[in-house]
Amino acid sequence: MKWETVIGLEVHAQLNTRSKIFSGASTAFGAAPNTQACAVDIALPGTLPVMNRAAVEKAIRFGLSVGGRVARRSIFARKNYFYPDLPKGYQISQYELPVVEGGTVTIVVGETEKTVRLTRAHLEEDAGKSLHEDFHGETGIDLNRAGTPLLEIVSEPEMRSSAEAVAYAKAIHGLVRWIDICDGNMQEGSFRCDANVSVRPLGSETLGTRCEIKNLNSFRFLERAIDFEVRRQIEVNEDGGKVVQETRLYDPDRDETRPMRSKEDAHDYRYFPDPDLLPLEISEPWMAEVQAALPELPQVRRERYASAYGLTPYDAAVLTASREIADYFEAAAEGASGAVAKTLANWIAGPLSAQLNDAGAEIGESRVSARQLRRLVERINDGTISNKIAREVFDAVWTGEAQGDDAADKVIESRGLKQISDSGALEKIADDVIAANAQQVADYRGGKDKAFNSLVGQVMKATKGKANPQQVTEILKRRLG
Ligand code: ADP
Ligand code: MG
Repeated sequence: MKWETVIGLEVHAQLNTRSKIFSGASTAFGAAPNTQACAVDIALPGTLPVMNRAAVEKAIRFGLSVGGRVARRSIFARKNYFYPDLPKGYQISQYELPVVEGGTVTIVVGETEKTVRLTRAHLEEDAGKSLHEDFHGETGIDLNRAGTPLLEIVSEPEMRSSAEAVAYAKAIHGLVRWIDICDGNMQEGSFRCDANVSVRPLGSETLGTRCEIKNLNSFRFLERAIDFEVRRQIEVNEDGGKVVQETRLYDPDRDETRPMRSKEDAHDYRYFPDPDLLPLEISEPWMAEVQAALPELPQVRRERYASAYGLTPYDAAVLTASREIADYFEAAAEGASGAVAKTLANWIAGPLSAQLNDAGAEIGESRVSARQLRRLVERINDGTISNKIAREVFDAVWTGEAQGDDAADKVIESRGLKQISDSGALEKIADDVIAANAQQVADYRGGKDKAFNSLVGQVMKATKGKANPQQVTEILKRRLG
C-alpha cells in the first residue's frame, strides 16, 4: 500500500514589541530570572491586562501581508490549564474570533510553486519557563517570558512532505522578518513550530489520525521529526495497529519522537471570553494606515524578478529569503540582462553566501559591494574570465586588493587573469601537451575518457587556468580526431 503524508503547521512567532502584550514589562531576552515579570505577568490579584497596541498592529501587518481577512472585531479568550509556569491558571488567547482568518503563502520546493492556505492567525501571550537544570530534583520558574506577545499562525493540512513543511516554515519565517514583526531568532525561541502529522492511504480523501510534535526550533529538526513520525505511523498502520492521537516530543539526540501526553481537545480547556478584556476593534483608517506602511512583499518581488529577468521560481525564492538579500540583488542587477541576472543569482546564493557565512557577516556587511559583484559577473558572462578564475578575483576584491565599482577589472588587469581566447596560442599549447603525453593520448584513443580529461587539465594548468575549458576541449578533440 502507498501512503500519503499530510502535515499542518502551527507557528508561534514572538512579536518584536518592546513591552508585553498586556503589561508594560520589557520583553528583552536574556535578563536574570524574574526581573522582567511585573504584577500583571505574575497574576497578582486585582491586576488587570491592558492591550498593547503595537502587538495588534503587527498582527494586522501579518494579516494584510498574507491576504487574509483582518477581523474588525475579535475576542480574547481564556484557555484554562494548570502548569507551574502559568500563574494565572489560564493563558489569554483567541479562540472563536481570531484577529486574522484565511490568507495564503506561496512556497517553492525545487522549481515547483505551491500555495498553502492559512486557517487563521491569533494573538496570545506566552507562558513562563520551567527550569530543570541546576535545581537538583527541583524545578525553577522564570516568569520573564510570561506575557510575551505571540502570533500563532495556523495552516490548513496542505503540506504533503517534510520538504514542503520546511519550505512553508521558511516562507513564514522570511515573511515575519520581512515585515518586521518578529526577529525570527530560533535559538532564543522567538520562532517555533508545532507539526501536525498524519498519513493516509494514497487516494483517500479523509484525513488520518494526527500526532502533534511540539516546539521544533530548527528547520532541520522540523524535517527530521516529520520524517521519523511518518515512518513510525506507516509502520503502526502496516503492523495492523492504529495511530493514537497524541502530543509528541522530538529528541534530536536520538532522532526520534516520543509520546508526551494524550492529545487534549479544545473542550478540555474550557475556553470562554476573557471578562477583563474588551473586544478588540480595528478601525478602517487604522488598517489603511498599516497597509500604506507595508514594504513591497517578497511574493511581489519574486514575480517582478521572474518577469524582468526571467529568473526561475527557485532563484527568485532564494533572492527573496530576506529583504537585505533582495535589496543587494536589485542594486547589483539594475538594468542587467537576464543572463547576467541569472549569474548574479548563482553568485549570491553560492560564493557570496559561503564567504559571508565564513565571516559570520550579514549581506549588508559584504565586503564585495553589489556593484562590484555586478562587474565581476559581467566579466564572466562576456568571456573575459572563467568562472574558476572569477573565484580568485572575488577573493581579491573581498580582501580589498582593489577599490571602486570596477575593482574586478583592476584585479584582472593587475594579475593578468584575462582568459586566453586567441585560438592560435591555445592550439600551440595543446600541441605541446599532446607531444609530451604520448601515453595518455594512446589511452584516450583506446577509449579511456579519463585520459582526455587529464589532457584538458594539463592545458588548463599550462595556461594557469586562463584558457576557456570549452575551447580547449574543442581544440583537443579536433587534434586527436
Ligand atoms: P489544535 O492542535 O490546537 O487542536 P487545530 O485543530 O486547529 O488545533 O489543528 C492544528 C493544526 O493541525 C492545523 O495546522 C491543521 O492543519 C492540522 N491538522 C488538523 N488535522 C490534521 C490531520 N489529520 N493531519 C495533519 N494535520 C492536521
Ligand atoms: Mg495544536
